[in-house]
Formats: sequence, structure tokens, C-alpha cells
Amino acid sequence: MNVISETLQSLKLSNCGTDTTFFQAVEEVLVSIEPLLSSYSKYQENAIVKRLVIPDRQIQFKVSWLDDKNDIQVNNGYRIQFNNALGPYKGGLRFHPSVNSGILKFLGFEQILKNALTGVAIGGGKGGSDFDPKGKSDKEVMKFCRAFMGELYKHIGATIDVPAGDIGVGGREIGYLYGAYKAYTSRYEGVLTGKPLFFGGSLMRTEATGYGVIYFASEMLKSENKSSLEHKICTVSGSGNVAIYTIEKLKQIGAVPVTCSDSTGFIYDKNGIDSELLKVLKFEKRVGLEEYTNIYPNAKFTSINEYEDGAHGVWSIPCFGAFPCATQNELTLKDATNLISNGVEIVTEGANMPTTQDATALFLKEGILFAPAKAANAGGVAVSGFEMSQNASMGKWTSLEVDLKLQETMREISQNIVKTANDFGDGRNYVMGANIAGFKKVADAMIAEGI
Ligand code: NDP
Repeated sequence: MNVISETLQSLKLSNCGTDTTFFQAVEEVLVSIEPLLSSYSKYQENAIVKRLVIPDRQIQFKVSWLDDKNDIQVNNGYRIQFNNALGPYKGGLRFHPSVNSGILKFLGFEQILKNALTGVAIGGGKGGSDFDPKGKSDKEVMKFCRAFMGELYKHIGATIDVPAGDIGVGGREIGYLYGAYKAYTSRYEGVLTGKPLFFGGSLMRTEATGYGVIYFASEMLKSENKSSLEHKICTVSGSGNVAIYTIEKLKQIGAVPVTCSDSTGFIYDKNGIDSELLKVLKFEKRVGLEEYTNIYPNAKFTSINEYEDGAHGVWSIPCFGAFPCATQNELTLKDATNLISNGVEIVTEGANMPTTQDATALFLKEGILFAPAKAANAGGVAVSGFEMSQNASMGKWTSLEVDLKLQETMREISQNIVKTANDFGDGRNYVMGANIAGFKKVADAMIAEGI
């Protein structure tokens, strides 16, 4: 049995039976780095695969807090410190009822390789809680954040572990978490990224993930000598941070993003989604997407209950480019089949692992340009790295400076992946290129640092 099947088998036998998304993420990486492992014996001699798939540390804790009625509420809190070979643990916090240790392990594992690709000196981690900010008052969110940080602060620090936002954690939550960290430690340091601008946040951090997705897609099209996204119909899922700024950048470059979605359904607006209205609905009013049609009566809202046959509404709309930006495993084999038969030419993952394994395999087999999340959405964490640099030097970069650095980072990631994929015999396989390039960087550091 070789090291890949041995590792997968042992994960299945241990706790991975319930950690299905973690197993999926590990399997996708291990299968695609096989050409590297068979070319260089040092990775097996140093047991890198076995060491990489086990987190350095998993912290789980109880979060008790008082709601507005003064009733006691209890949630689970987590931080997975996965690997710090390249720098302090770095990765977002997710607040969503679906959060459990398996989902956070998948996200933390992906984060290790993503962060390696950025070229910034950061390791990989992830955390969060099954707390649902939806329907809670600002005061309740603040009380929860304070209680959550009451344990987390013991494990993080500007050179130890630097969390950021993710699903359910935006500027409001990061602000409360930062205030709590300061209260518990008396330290004013860059311990969280995605902070509001007036106390240490970086310009362009909010936009970075979505803008980076489009910079990456544009680089891919360029390196394939294909026509650009200008005037092309694009479909986007999600209507949170990543989706909104993906849509905004698509419009800036002259593309026509015609969809967005949330947990209640999706909007099809053939004239192009209004990203400013989405900001109001999702960041200020925090309401469902159906309200979009109050302002644009010609746009069509389809409720999630009307989706047919396991297919997800957004992916039934014909498009040149598809951008899944909501959540994991939201684009299935059935959706991929729909997209391909409707002529899709490029699929770029904005969310983490939004495409199921069989759907990814189909895109690759059919020669569709496919950008995996760990490359395409790395712009967010790259700019988080820039925020850490600015905090450490007490400096402030302009929007233009950050944007230019972001564009350069996405270009370098793309070029590195294409070169790596070419070196291993398949220049169009961005999944293999990203996994090998990220793994190699982390593995070489682990070898150099010893055990
Ligand atoms: P947000 O919380 O801002 O938005 C998430 C969006 O996805 C919302 O529209 C939400 O709908 C929708 N959504 C979430 N879960 C589901 C579900 N099960 N079914 C349908 N829709 C769903 O999160 P982000 O935009 O920050 O994150 C989106 C994805 O991007 C995640 O995979 C995240 O890990 C990834 N990512 C985020 C980065 C960042 O910088 N924020 C960086 C890199 C990756 P609703 O409004 O109804 O809840």
C-alpha cells in the first residue's frame, strides 16, 4: 500500500468517518500530488503526508452567553491550529449553525496550501462556532463575541495565530472580537485581520477575495489565449462578502453577472446584478434576497423550494463563466453537467471547495478551465497578510498600493501554478498545479525545520 492510500485508509479508520468534508479535501490533494511524491523520495522519508494531515492542535470550548431576554445560551467554539511551518497560524472564523470540527478541519487543511501559494509568511488554521448571527441583535452578537474571545484569547496572538472573518463573521463581528481581545489582554496588536479601517484594518481587505477571484480568472484566460470576460454572461452564487465583490469586479471589467443566491433562493437579473443593492440588503438590512425584486421587479427570484432534481438554480442559467461563491459542495455533478451543456468555458471557485469531487473531475475531463479555491480565492488571505505587515510597521498603504499588490499576487499564483502543472505534465490542470506548488512549499519548510 503506498503512502497516499495508507494515509486515506487511516483517516477513514480514525475520526474521518464523520469528517466527510475533511476527508474529501485531503483526498483531492493527496491524489493530485502523487506525481510529486513519486519523483522525490524526501517527502516520504520525512513522513510529510502523515504529518500534514493531522492538525498541530485542536481547541474546542464552551461559549456561554446571555441573550436579550437574559436567558443563558450555550454554543461550541473551535480553533484548529493546523500547520505553522511557514508562519503564524492564519485563517478565518466561521459563525454558522452547520459548523463542527470536521468542517473546520477541511477549511484549515485547505488554508495551509492556500496560504503557502500567496507567498506571504503565514501558516494555516481555521475556527468558529455553531452560533448563528442571523436574527440576533447587535448586542447579542457583541455578547457572544466577548464570550467566545474569553477562551480564544489564550491561544492567539500577532505572532502565534491571527484569525480573520469567514461566513457569518464580517466587520461587525471582527470589531467586537478585537475589542474583547484588547479587554482580556490589554494588548493592541494585529491579532485579527479584516478589522474596520479606523482601527488597524487595511484598505481593500473587504474587496480582496472577490476582486482576487476575477484577477485570477482573467489571468487564466490570458494564459490560455482565450477572450477576456468583457461582455460575457457570468453566473455567481452567494450574496455575501465574496459574491458581492466578485460581482462588483465583474461589472467593473465589463462582464454581465446575472445571478446571485442565498440560503432562501436565487435572483436572475438579465441586466446585471446590482451589487450596491446587495450590500444594502445583506450588510445593512440583513434580509433575504427576495427583497431585491422590490427594487428590480423585472428580476426573477426563485425560492430554494422550487429547485428541481437536486440541481441548484443558479447553475441552470447559461453562462460563459461560473463563480460559485457561497459554500462548500454547492456545485454538484448535475450542476456541472448543466453548465457544460449550456456552454460554460471557465469555472472559478470563490467559496472554499464549492465544487463536489465528481463535478471537478467532469470539468477537468471536458477541458473546461477550472480554478480551485485555494488559488482563486487566495486574494483575501493575501491582503490579510498585507494588513499584518501594516499593523507590524504601524503603516498605512493606499487602496491603489494594496490593489496593485493584490493583482501582482494573483498573477504570481497563476504563473506558479501553470509552471508547476507544466513541470508535471499537464499545464491546464490548475488543481494539480495548485496542490503540488502549495504542498511543496510547506513540505520543504517542514523538512528544513526538522521534527
Ligand atoms: P458571507 O457570510 O458573507 O456570505 C455567505 C453567503 O453564502 C450568503 O449569501 C449565504 O446566504 C450563502 N450561504 C451560506 N451557506 C449557504 C448554504 N448552505 N446554502 C445556500 N447559501 C448559503 O461569507 P463569505 O462571502 O465571506 O464566504 C463565502 C465563501 O467564501 C465561504 O466558503 C468562505 O469560506 C469563502 N472564503 C471567504 C473569504 C473571505 O475573505 N470572506 C476568503 C476566502 C474564502 P445567507 O445570506 O442566506 O446566509
